Amino acid sequence: MNFKNLSIDELRKLIDEIGLEDFYHHYLEFIKKEDEKVKGFLFLTEKLIEKTLDELKNKDKNLPLWGIPIAIKDNILVKGERCTAGSKILENYIAPYDATVIKKLKEAGAVIVGKTNLDEFAMGSSTENSAYHPTFNPFDPERVPGGSSGGSAAVVGAGIIPIALGSDTGGSIRQPASFCGVYGLKPTYSAVSRYGLIAMASSLDQIGVFSRYLDDLITVFTIIRGKDKFDSTSQVYKEITKEIKIIGVPEEVYSLGLESGVKECLEKFIEKISQNFKIKKISLPSLPYSLPTYYLIMTAEVSSNLARYDGIRYGLSIKDEELLQTYLLTREKGFGKEVKRRILLGTFVLSHGYYEAYYLKALKTRKFIFEDFQKAFRSVDLILMPTSPTLPFKIGEKMTDPLSMYLADIYTVPVNLAYLPALSFPIGFVNNLPVGAQIIGNLFEEKAIFSFIKNTNGNY
Ligand code: GLN
Repeated sequence: MNFKNLSIDELRKLIDEIGLEDFYHHYLEFIKKEDEKVKGFLFLTEKLIEKTLDELKNKDKNLPLWGIPIAIKDNILVKGERCTAGSKILENYIAPYDATVIKKLKEAGAVIVGKTNLDEFAMGSSTENSAYHPTFNPFDPERVPGGSSGGSAAVVGAGIIPIALGSDTGGSIRQPASFCGVYGLKPTYSAVSRYGLIAMASSLDQIGVFSRYLDDLITVFTIIRGKDKFDSTSQVYKEITKEIKIIGVPEEVYSLGLESGVKECLEKFIEKISQNFKIKKISLPSLPYSLPTYYLIMTAEVSSNLARYDGIRYGLSIKDEELLQTYLLTREKGFGKEVKRRILLGTFVLSHGYYEAYYLKALKTRKFIFEDFQKAFRSVDLILMPTSPTLPFKIGEKMTDPLSMYLADIYTVPVNLAYLPALSFPIGFVNNLPVGAQIIGNLFEEKAIFSFIKNTNGNY
């Protein structure tokens, strides 16, 4: 039986043919075997699968995801399962409730099959910061799958699973999607509830979708979006329909360290789509300021969000007679190097005397970035940019140099700072490694993004 690279519809047919139980019996063997090559999963949720299969027997077979397997980044809570966030500090933490997205997926008939690897607390661009093990790129095991949602990207890219959820704070869905040759959607901020997502930087975090096929991604996005009373920042999803004629390409992208192979691939793609769309050169003068702005706002929010891991309330607890010692010992032992680095930076950014100089200034720059995009959208319908400046890099290549790792986010962070939706999609290969580009819409314009991809189909 061949389970590789199947779409939701193909899986549904197969399940119809052989029955749910039989299907999962063989399919789980397949997942285990195939995942040995990429190590995208932290663990499979076997008991939950059994329970779900039982429940599905009495549920309407016409549910949009009836019996369809989905993998979940391990910073999204699935009730009764471990949720580690890729950290030792949450190694034995059991999720007490379902995240809203999980509740919605379950109601739609999905089978949550496992939790995927990530950089600790979603901080990183390679999944090497996971406290458990690295994940390997499905196209080259010596290379990283990207990050922080590297596990989700790798299992979809390897053709093991049709759909996975991830989270994107500064590129963590789009960059690994590009490295693993799949689609990765970061929705408009507030389009998808963050309830049950372990917070990294709350004003930037969004849950989104990886898929091999665009229609599958649209199906899942339509299910998970919408207002949720448990996330006060979430909004009623108002779908916007508009015609796509003009695609803007910011000239600044060429001066931000874009590797020549990626550049050529992008240029070829632009030339091809210029038959269907008007391509307009635009300027986004704020782009070079995005990375420093992101690393100030994100670290500030990280330092605040991660204060809750004190050895008292969640996960790991190294007890001492002195309460302060309990905090210190737990955090010292439980957090990895990158997480500590960001907590320190964020605490500094928010400290008395530096708050105005760094944090407040970064908030002002964020507004400037937002307005810059809004201005651009007055003359173009969508904006096209590279997803990552480089091809998937080698494991270990950037681990000793955090700044070079941060540069991997140069094209993705502006989109989070501006609250916009963006989809990374495959545009070709260089040296047998996948290259992605991202198409960015204005707020709530996911539909326009999808129709752009449909109109370019077969063109790359
Ligand atoms: N790579 C980025 C970072 O390290 C983005 C992370 C994310 O989107 N979760 O912060």
